[in-house]
Amino acid sequence: MSYEKSMLEKYKMPQKVEVENAILISLFNHEGIIKEFSTGDKIVEEIANKFNLNEEQRYVFLERIYRKENRIVKSPLWTRLLYRAADSLTKDKLITNPKTTFKLTNKKEWMLTEEGYNKVLKLLKIPISEKENFVTKTYEVQKIIKSIQDKPRPSSYQPIEDNSNRIVATREYKVRKRGFRLAVLEAYDYKCAFCGLKIFSLKNKNINWEVQAAHIVPHREKGKDDLLNGLSLCRLHHWAFDEGWLSIYDNYMIDVSKRIEKLPVQYGRLNEFDFIRYFLNDKKRIILPLNKNYYPHYNSIMWHRKNIFLS
Ligand SMILES: [Zn+2]
Repeated sequence: MSYEKSMLEKYKMPQKVEVENAILISLFNHEGIIKEFSTGDKIVEEIANKFNLNEEQRYVFLERIYRKENRIVKSPLWTRLLYRAADSLTKDKLITNPKTTFKLTNKKEWMLTEEGYNKVLKLLKIPISEKENFVTKTYEVQKIIKSIQDKPRPSSYQPIEDNSNRIVATREYKVRKRGFRLAVLEAYDYKCAFCGLKIFSLKNKNINWEVQAAHIVPHREKGKDDLLNGLSLCRLHHWAFDEGWLSIYDNYMIDVSKRIEKLPVQYGRLNEFDFIRYFLNDKKRIILPLNKNYYPHYNSIMWHRKNIFLS
């Protein structure tokens, strides 16, 4: 038996596969990304807490003689075990190692892959269909978000996808859809661009936002999955925008369809809040992203005014 193995047994350390599962669950609880392990780090302690490790188990060292210099090198057994578990998760392509993640985020972190995300959901008995409700960013989704955020802002922007770029109902499309959603929500700070509603609930310790990523030129009309064609909207205003009750002027002021006047006054009300007529009385701009590069594009807005708005 190797020295390391005998130490693992002597100190009754958890099995590697248990540690692998704990790392996956920790990744899920931290939106898909955790810091590279080093002794004393919060994440190293957090996973140790899951196993109720005692002081000795947390801080026992492996000692090796470094022959060249004839000195003893010490490395903590628990951190070593975490690394071993993370390495096998990397080999199984369930997470990406800090070197790969660094190329994308400039930070040394472990990141879930799509396959790893599927495995966590299985471990936690959450149906795969709920995958898109969480803010978990996998490596693949993070790549999409980055490409959406880095996309240049052309004045001749065309909000409609030509057929060659169109991906329908494939696994790739599902990943792209999640990337679009998270990029839009983040750009608008998780608020409804019309009413400012910002709220989440917690599901399995994971944040579930109320707002949705809306396409200005709808997806069924081949509207692009990018920030220039996106808006973050609460369910009510998403519906009202998609149905054409509301639209935006090119100066980002909110416009309300005149047809609302034909409806009985008790329609469209949540007690005092008249979720469509409200914008008639109180002329205002939509809530825009902090970054001007992420503002909706004039061409997307014009398309919506022409084709969806109930004028
Ligand atoms: Zn709203």
